[in-house]
Amino acid sequence: MLPYERPIITRYNPGITNKFGSKVDYFPFTQIDGVPVKRLIDAYGSPCFVLSERTIRDTYRNALRAFSTRYPKVQFAWSYKTNYLNAVCQVFHQEGAWAEVVSMFEYQKAILNGVPGEQILFNGPDKTADDLRIALQNNSLIHIDHFDELYLLSEIVRDSGKKARVAIRINMDTGVYPQWDRFGFNYENETAWEAVQKIMGQSNMILTGLHCHIGTYMLSTRAYHLAATKLAQLALRIKGQYGHRIAYIDIGGGFASGNTLKGSYLQGSDVIPTMDDYAEAISTALLGSGIPTAELPSLYLEAGRALIDDAGYLLGSVLAIKRLSDGRRATIMDFGVNLLFTSFWYDHRITPAQEFSRHTEDMVVYGPLCMNIDVVRENISLPLLNRGDHVVVHRVGAYNMTQWMQFISMRPNVVLIDLEGGVHLVRARETVDTLNQQEQTPAHLLSISPV
Ligand SMILES: *Cc1c(COP(=O)(O)O)cnc(C)c1O
Repeated sequence: MLPYERPIITRYNPGITNKFGSKVDYFPFTQIDGVPVKRLIDAYGSPCFVLSERTIRDTYRNALRAFSTRYPKVQFAWSYKTNYLNAVCQVFHQEGAWAEVVSMFEYQKAILNGVPGEQILFNGPDKTADDLRIALQNNSLIHIDHFDELYLLSEIVRDSGKKARVAIRINMDTGVYPQWDRFGFNYENETAWEAVQKIMGQSNMILTGLHCHIGTYMLSTRAYHLAATKLAQLALRIKGQYGHRIAYIDIGGGFASGNTLKGSYLQGSDVIPTMDDYAEAISTALLGSGIPTAELPSLYLEAGRALIDDAGYLLGSVLAIKRLSDGRRATIMDFGVNLLFTSFWYDHRITPAQEFSRHTEDMVVYGPLCMNIDVVRENISLPLLNRGDHVVVHRVGAYNMTQWMQFISMRPNVVLIDLEGGVHLVRARETVDTLNQQEQTPAHLLSISPV
């Protein structure tokens, strides 16, 4: 028997699609890599994150192909903060990626994952003296962010008798504003050059690389061309002044994923450059820089979101349907901004996971939190959903599983679907014990009756 669905009146929109597009989805999204969504929810609960190993590997191989068919020496380093679930990191490491970390705990994760110390790029403004000592001991590549770090490292290497392999992070004008100038040393005002001079004067620091990370979700390939050009110019200047060859240029990450930015006129997947576009911009800049072929530096890349976003799905369920005071339809899901931090800047695609009728209605999608800003989509045209219906949120692999909040509800299960369709739990859902484990209650507060 067909379920009852109340009638609605919608304006008939004949002819070509308007600027908001036609209906978002025509078919339910019932399976991921051949595994039924319903089966996943029955086994692992709702909400639940799902990762596709196949998509991770395909995306990585495509990126590696785009760069290595254009440039002779290419090395990716997986950006841990984008998704540091060990299963995810290991897929990238198996594919040949090194590790890029921005904190000691990420560094420790990389070591525990078996990444050799010399294949860890240590970024970020927050490295303690102990962190630097460990990185030095393991021969990791230390990407210096500011002068205070340079001086601290200088003291540490002097006492250790070892040589530090370092790079400097450089910020610059790439024609994209606001400029990310809070990280590293500025190119245009010569601060980067001063940093080079100071490092070249240190007998136990080897200036191995030049690093930049010009922004995130960058839609301009021109910006990358400029960044690569400026770093190559700096490498040439170092060669000219000191006769010292820079071993690698690290262009960072920031390549866009297929998500749609809020306020964007077109779907993200229609406007973002391809990996080939980015690779073309960067490789032509380096190959055309005037650096002799035999002396070309290695090209390091720290792509994060572009390599993992598409491989992540969030499965969820409808908790309730409401009418707001202004007549709009509201759908309340069992996941919100606690799990989908990226819904603050993306309009995530949401697809029902079961058959639906051809009627759609504009609606707002809320999460379950008792917090007014818990909005997953301000406005989305979806088929009419009912309590208990399942939905799939697409492209959630980047940053959500690291920026998720333990607010009001605990973090859910995360599963990985392997290449054969096998499903593996890769992070178990949290429970009240997860929270209580960390707490210590003073003896006089152990009981609710006062002592
Ligand atoms: C975050 C970060 C990345 C990855 O950025 P994406 O925009 O996800 O590609 C790479 N390098 C550094 C230094 C970062 O901080």
